[in-house]
Order: sequence, then structure tokens, then C-alpha cells
Amino acid sequence: MRSFKHYIGGRFDADSDGDRFDVVNPVTGLKFGTVPHALLPTVNSAVTAAHSALSGQWGDLDTAGRCRVLRRVADGIEDRFEEFVAAEIADTGKPYALASSVDIPRGISNFRSYADLALGRAEETHNTTTPDGLGALNYTVRRPLGVVAVISPWNLPLLLLTWKVAPALAMGNTVVAKPSELTPSTATLLAEVMDEAGVPPGVFNLIHGLGTDSAGALLTSHPGVDAIAFTGETRTGSAIMSAAARNLTPVSFELGGKNAGLVFADADLEQAVEGTIASAFTNSGQVCLCTERLYVQREVFDDFATALAARAKELVLGRPYDAGTQLGPLVSAEHRAKVLAYFRQAAAEGTVLAGGAVPEFGDDRDGGFYVQPTVLAGLPETHLVVRDEIFGPVVHLAPFDTEDEAVRLANDSPYGLAATLWTTDVSRAHRLAPRLEVGITWVNCWNLRDLRTPFGGVKASGIGREGGTHSLDFFSEPTNVCVKL
Ligand code: NAD
Repeated sequence: MRSFKHYIGGRFDADSDGDRFDVVNPVTGLKFGTVPHALLPTVNSAVTAAHSALSGQWGDLDTAGRCRVLRRVADGIEDRFEEFVAAEIADTGKPYALASSVDIPRGISNFRSYADLALGRAEETHNTTTPDGLGALNYTVRRPLGVVAVISPWNLPLLLLTWKVAPALAMGNTVVAKPSELTPSTATLLAEVMDEAGVPPGVFNLIHGLGTDSAGALLTSHPGVDAIAFTGETRTGSAIMSAAARNLTPVSFELGGKNAGLVFADADLEQAVEGTIASAFTNSGQVCLCTERLYVQREVFDDFATALAARAKELVLGRPYDAGTQLGPLVSAEHRAKVLAYFRQAAAEGTVLAGGAVPEFGDDRDGGFYVQPTVLAGLPETHLVVRDEIFGPVVHLAPFDTEDEAVRLANDSPYGLAATLWTTDVSRAHRLAPRLEVGITWVNCWNLRDLRTPFGGVKASGIGREGGTHSLDFFSEPTNVCVKL
């Protein structure tokens, strides 16, 4: 049984000031560790440690020095790669193939990419004309914001944590991180790697605990926190924004989605089916970018629906380390209960083309949190199954006739994170992509990521952009210097 600890000021022995809670393996439903709740004294210690570390060893390093440290962190994760994969799997139950090809490699490349970007970054300069004809030189220098609170979710635990920690550190900030209460393991390994890589004490601090009325809320309302970078549910973002408002703390938010896909009759339908299988069911639908609403042009609707449902039924649910496993369980019993409640409503009022139930294995996996990949149709656009983010392996299909109707349906959502367009008509793709109210549109692909590109959502899906220089901008403050020549 593992006993997780906070990591504050370079020490793991800072123990809990509250009760401990259990962490459970989603494959079997069995408890494998206990995690401490950080209450106010722990949160205070972490923020104080982070504040103290802003000067001294860390503050004295230039960008190149900090980037050397970040590269050592990347190397440290790589050296312990299989340990990280196993830890991610223990918390989430995701397939080995996914954890070892996406989650952990992206955790590593987040540190390397932001080290490269920070080092290669150029700032603004302007030659300014002055009345005396001699001119002035304006240039910008960037300073860290200070102590950054990083709050991350459970679906891609290391990937999303490091996506914020790496650029925050690259720009000279210090961090207090709080991972999801459901996934403490890789964050804890990351703290060990930070220690081994020689990150000065207090530069990276890790506290565990719940969100509401607990560690998360205490951290985001803390007056010693200078910026908040959060990924999670829209509702939580709203609560954090209220807490941040008291101290005017800047926020960067990556929130929920109810992403639409549009399949035109001219699409390569085989490619569109396979792309939708990936976009709806990867990580059992627990990716903010997953497609939960798919609109298919009427003349190919029936063929597409039949092919998609058939492919969904072929997906293999299994244990993380089994070679054929394509989908793992959902993260928790609570999350599965929520997803199944939507499935029941859909079955009562619409059509279930595939899945819709809990699989039966006849072994210890029946204690885990699996659900079948599910394809639905026939629900009105006003139905909660079509409106709400379900965050499970589920997609609802509906027909459309015209381009305008497709755009209207796609945009008719409080969310605006991502969209997919499946068409072989290049003009159509360019015509429609800018009309979609989202932060990211993929044409004939899904989740093809270049870490330098802007990433984020519009409407209820987020505030600000991360990725590339967008992250470096958020995690630093520009100061303009004007020198009279
Ligand atoms: P969540 O909002 O429940 O929790 C996320 C984190 O916030 C956790 O660490 C939690 O403890 C903390 N938290 C909860 N309440 C808090 C509060 N009041 N104050 C401070 N912290 C608090 O989200 P989740 O269930 O862990 O993750 C799933 C959600 O994340 C989905 O909505 C998904 O779309 C979203 N997500 C978005 C992106 C993106 O890039 N847009 C990426 C991944 C996940």
C-alpha cells in the first residue's frame, strides 16, 4: 500500500495536516494507496517555500541555466520511463500502449520543447523617432510572474501537469502544483525527478488534496499566489475565477468541451470512420478534445452510422498490459455512474447503435469501472446527452443537409474547444474552418499536435491560449524599456 506525501521546499517528509483519502485502481476497483489532504498550514508552507525560492539559486540563473535544469528533468523522466508508465496506469487504468506512446513521452517533450522555445525566444525592439532626430530604442524584457499555482485533472495526469509546469519554470517562476485527487502517482514521481535533477528546493512544490473547500480552493484563493494555470471542468474554472478575483490573480484556463465533428458526403468515409473511432474513444473518451457530437451529411448518414457502430463494437476493452487492449476503464466509480446515467437517458429517448452498457468479463475486471464504447442517434439537439460534456466513450450522430446547417449545429453549444472536419473539398475546408467557434479545428485528422501551436478554447472551454510562445507569454510579464539615444 503506497503512502503519498507532499513535496515542499525540497522535502518529502512534510506530512499531512488533514485526514488521508484512498486512491483506487480503476481496473479492479481496489485501493492501492492513501493520499494526504493539504489544509491551510500545508498550503501556506508550500506557497512560502515557492516564494522564498524565487530569489537565490533559481533567481540567479539565466534562461540558459534554467533550460539546462529543465532538460535534466526531461532526461530524469526518460531514465525512469517504465516507472512513470506504470504509475500512470495504476491511477488511470489506461492501456500501456497509450501511456507509453502519449502520456509519458509528452511529459518529457513538454520539458524539452519549452526549454528550446524559451532559449530561442526573441523579444520586441522598436527604433523610435524623436523630435530631436536622435531617436530612442524601445525593447522589452520579460520577468517571471512569481509563484504559479498549477491545478491539473486526472485524464492525462503527467502530460497536462507538465504542460504548465515546464513553461512556468522556463520563464523563471516557481510552482505549487496540485494534481487531481484521483491521480497522485506521476506527479509524485515528477517531484522525485525534480529533486534528482537538482531543481533548487522550493522551485517545484507538490501538494495533494481535493478541490472544493480543500487544497485546490485554498491554493487558488491564496494571496501569495501570483498566477493560476488550471485545466479541468468549466464549473471548476468558474469557482477558481471567483476565488482569483479577490486577489486579481491572472488565470489561464483549459476547460471542458462538447466537440463537434462534421462529415461531408465527399469525405473519404473509411478515413472519417477511423478518425472518429480515434476522436470519440481514445482514452475511453476521457480527453477534452474528444468528439461527442458528430454531424453527417444526410446522403451518407446511414452508411456512415452502420460502419461506425460496427467498428465501435470491435474495440477491445481490457487490462492495461494486455497486448490487444484498445480501451481501459473510466477513472472512477463516480465518473462511471455519471456516464451510465447519460447512457440510460439516451436509451430511453433515442437509439443506441452500439454499446450503452457495462461489459461483463467474468473476472476481477468486473470490479473495475469499464463501460462499452457507445454510438447514439435520434436525440434532439436540446437533449442533455447532446448538450452536456459526458467525458466518456460516447458519440451522438445526427444528419445535416447543407454547409450552413452543419456550421450552425456545430456552433450551437456553450463550449468551443475543438472541431473535426472530414471532407476532400479543400475549398470547403478553408471556407468552413474559420466559421467554427472553437480554438482548434482539425481537417481530415484529429489530435495531431504541434506543441508550438496555440492551444485552448473559446466560450465555456477556456480563457487564454497555451502552447509555444503563448504559454511563455502567460507565464511572464513584459516590461518595456525606453532608452533615449
Ligand atoms: P475537475 O475540474 O473536477 O478537477 C480538476 C482539478 O481541479 C483537480 O485537481 C481538482 O481537485 C481541482 N479542483 C476541483 N475543484 C476545485 C476548486 N473549487 N478550486 C480549486 N481546485 C479545484 O476536472 P476533472 O474531472 O479532473 O477533469 C475533467 C475535466 O477536465 C473535463 O471537463 C475536461 O474537458 C477537462 N479538461 C480540459 C482540457 C483542456 O485542455 N481544455 C484538458 C483535459 C481535461
